[in-house]
Amino acid sequence: MGTYDQLLKRQHDFYETDSTKSIEFRIQALKNLEYLLKANEQKLMKAMKIDLNKSAFESYSSEIGIVLHEISFVIKHLKKWSRPKRVKTSLTHLGSKGYVHYDPYGTTLLIGPWNYPVQLTLSPLIGAIAAGNCAVVKPSELAPNTADVLSQLIRSAFPEEYITVIQGDAEVTQELLALDFDYIFFTGSVPVGKIVMEAAAKNLTPVTLELGGKSPGIVHKDADIKLAAKRLAWGKFMNAGQTCVAPDYLYVHREVKEKFKEALIDAVKSLYGEYPLKNQAYTHIVNQNHFHRIEQYLTEGTMVYGGDKDLNQLVIEPTILEEVAWEDSVMQQEIFGPVLPILEYDDLSEVMEGIARNPNPLALYLFTQDQQVENRIVGSVSFGGGCINDTVFHIVTPYLPFGGVGTSGMGSYHGKSSFETFSHQKSILKQTTLFDNPFRYPNAKNGLKIL
Ligand code: NAD
Repeated sequence: MGTYDQLLKRQHDFYETDSTKSIEFRIQALKNLEYLLKANEQKLMKAMKIDLNKSAFESYSSEIGIVLHEISFVIKHLKKWSRPKRVKTSLTHLGSKGYVHYDPYGTTLLIGPWNYPVQLTLSPLIGAIAAGNCAVVKPSELAPNTADVLSQLIRSAFPEEYITVIQGDAEVTQELLALDFDYIFFTGSVPVGKIVMEAAAKNLTPVTLELGGKSPGIVHKDADIKLAAKRLAWGKFMNAGQTCVAPDYLYVHREVKEKFKEALIDAVKSLYGEYPLKNQAYTHIVNQNHFHRIEQYLTEGTMVYGGDKDLNQLVIEPTILEEVAWEDSVMQQEIFGPVLPILEYDDLSEVMEGIARNPNPLALYLFTQDQQVENRIVGSVSFGGGCINDTVFHIVTPYLPFGGVGTSGMGSYHGKSSFETFSHQKSILKQTTLFDNPFRYPNAKNGLKIL
């Protein structure tokens, strides 16, 4: 038996003791996690600074703060969510009662990406704990300092048979994937999502896949142009564009395109200054491979703004392109970097056709004041979720489930949706013993029999 088999067996045995199932235990574990984060905020920020040059502001507002908010939301609602849920029964079930009992799955494997190494590793863990599961957490090896701190913190607060961190690369992840976990939650790229699902299929393990894709922003002619530019620039260039729900490219109505371009450039300057490469608060590209991948996009279309880069520091300026073609690699792949191509359109049907020709986006951002335009896009275009007149904010509220559709993922989490994701809904019908309906039996002769 390998090391990971033994670990999984220990987690399985611990789960079988039923310790993780009491609500008090789960709430205490969430409080421990909350305490850990608060007490080690500086350590985590320092690690994210080393891994990605994340500023203290971004590390708190898009990572630690979000996780803390999610924990307190879940603690507040957990008792209510986990109560058995009464449901109606139909007339044929006269005398009986129905309810749904929320069962944990048991042992869970949570695989994280590097781009928001704290938020995207710990948010699924909140769901796993809330629902009463054990967890093996596998952070990304591309944010190694953050992974180290997470590992130390988790080890200091939880026994290994309940929650543990395993660090490692693709090979280690595949070893873990070969084991018979009861649930797998994966956040990462589409190709690796397929590997995860294939491995899970061997054990018929249910999965949630939080993947990526090209998320469009649409600026309609009636949009508040200045505000649209500001909110799009913010959503795109935070974390240097390395955000799964960043607007990947824009469709801008021809009538407002010139005005929008100017407003977008102003917005970028006001967010990052005239010289973003010198801005100490601007996130770096995660490594040289990604730097070279993104750098190639700069040669495509026509450059409207930006384009400076520095390999030594791993920084690429916020860059705006236009006149790109769907055949260009920048339009074929998820950009996942600070490059924003702009397409123009005359009629909304061109936008809808363009998006429909490509895999389902994880997010979509529409800027318009027109309810009919909103209804048309929301009603007819397939995408995971999104915002009207904003970007990214839909993932920050625990009241909205977050997840993709088609190639951008399956399943969802955040708030109650996390609790549901990590719970099996066990349906129970409780039958009366006061009477017995004879008509259900093939030899029915007499009327209702009171027992
Ligand atoms: P990735 O798929 O390369 O890696 C994610 C995890 O999978 C890591 O822990 C890594 O160790 C592991 N892994 C990598 N290659 C593997 C392999 N061959 N076999 C088994 N495991 C492997 O993704 P990434 O580069 O860390 O993140 C970027 C991608 O993730 C983007 O596509 C982005 O859109 C997506 N993403 C999605 C979300 C979301 O919430 N939907 C959030 C962040 C990132």
